[in-house]
Amino acid sequence: MHFDLLISGAGPAGLCLARALSGIGLSIGIVEQQPENAIAEPAFDGREIALSQGSAATLRRLGLWERIEGYDAAALSPLRDAQVLNGPSKFSMVIGHGLGARSELGWLASNHLIRRAAWEAVQHSMAQHGDITLMAGDGVARVGADAQAAQVTLASGATHRARLLVAADSRFSPTRRAMGIGASLHDFGRTMLVSQVEHELPHEHMAWEWFGHGQTMALLPMNDDPVSGAHRASVVLTLPQQRIEPLLALDAEAFGAELARRFDHRLGAMRSTSTRHAYPLVGVYPHRLVAERFACIGDAAVGMHPVTAHGFNFGLLSVTTLARELRAAHAAGHDIGAPQPLARYQRHHRLATRPLYEATRLVATLYTNDTAPARRLRDVVLRVADRVTPFKRAIAAQLAGGR
Ligand SMILES: Cc1cc2nc3c(=O)[nH]c(=O)nc-3n(C[C@H](O)[C@H](O)[C@H](O)COP(=O)(O)OP(=O)(O)OC[C@H]3O[C@@H](n4cnc5c(N)ncnc54)[C@H](O)[C@@H]3O)c2cc1C
Repeated sequence: MHFDLLISGAGPAGLCLARALSGIGLSIGIVEQQPENAIAEPAFDGREIALSQGSAATLRRLGLWERIEGYDAAALSPLRDAQVLNGPSKFSMVIGHGLGARSELGWLASNHLIRRAAWEAVQHSMAQHGDITLMAGDGVARVGADAQAAQVTLASGATHRARLLVAADSRFSPTRRAMGIGASLHDFGRTMLVSQVEHELPHEHMAWEWFGHGQTMALLPMNDDPVSGAHRASVVLTLPQQRIEPLLALDAEAFGAELARRFDHRLGAMRSTSTRHAYPLVGVYPHRLVAERFACIGDAAVGMHPVTAHGFNFGLLSVTTLARELRAAHAAGHDIGAPQPLARYQRHHRLATRPLYEATRLVATLYTNDTAPARRLRDVVLRVADRVTPFKRAIAAQLAGGR
């Protein structure tokens, strides 16, 4: 088949791009290696995604927000404040919502609900405009491009052509690699374990990032259980892989007790309420985001370390930036796969993401260094940063997504 736009990967970024460009007269194909039922009913994967206000606005515009609210009235939790702690000290640097103009810094939503809502929004576009074709259960195997079109061969042997091919197929994007684009990889040598808990004391909708000694913990505040009233949160534990494995093997009761101990009982007793999921930590920054008749978005464009909670926020930013360029080119009667709109997309997205990508890498490296001088430096940096209001305001503005 011949498409205007062919997207590799029906993760949240790929689906949001299809949704953002539906209804303007482009034919859009999506190739996804997983079967359709995995896209329609994505399984819980432990990830609670912190969304900036800018991302919340994008999700509203794309029609995902009200779908997520419709699944469960408690599904979108406000993130009012955030605190950063270091070692056993009780001192914390607090980023309060008062630094911005809203009563919350951002929001939290489960990744599987975002994915489900994205697929439903795409289905709505399909019914309304008939301009999106999903090819599920068949991955991109080979790609090529020339001045006229990108050519794609799927694992099944089917071949397609497109004016523009977009990779939205994860941070290790096979399509990006096949297009000959390399990437800088940073393996942090750590794994993240994510899981949901109920806990005894209220979290007051404060997110925690706690750089302990020998471990890093995060707590993402979820809404209380609407039926039982129990306080709920998503916890994230970062450790070397060999120390994650025994935690995966604990029974639920022992795991809850272990988390409460690691959180120094600051939120009282903890009870594990979900499956546990482990993610190895590798940051990826591609050398280029575009090539002839090709662009990458989502994690394929920037694979962030989750500590600054910006992977999907940047993913949505890539969607809005590329969609704006493609809409403008199409409206002016130009070729959407021409080099100029792609070059503008690359310039904007790299400018918007590179500084935080590098800063995140530095923070994650410094705050997992447990040597005595590094521990002292970690403490000094945190206490100084706490006094620099413009710095904290800048973090609050970053969470607000500049909107
Ligand atoms: C523990 C954890 C916590 C996180 N917390 C946050 C947070 O708080 N805030 C935030 O903004 N972000 C967060 N993120 C990041 C966020 O989850 C990702 O940025 C986002 O899910 C990436 O979406 P994507 O669509 O780009 O890629 P993916 O979700 O990886 O989807 C890629 C899709 O491509 C498909 N695919 C792969 N290869 C092929 C192929 N050859 N052909 C066809 N299809 C293919 C895959 O099957 C998949 O469906 C977190 C990540 C982790 C791991």
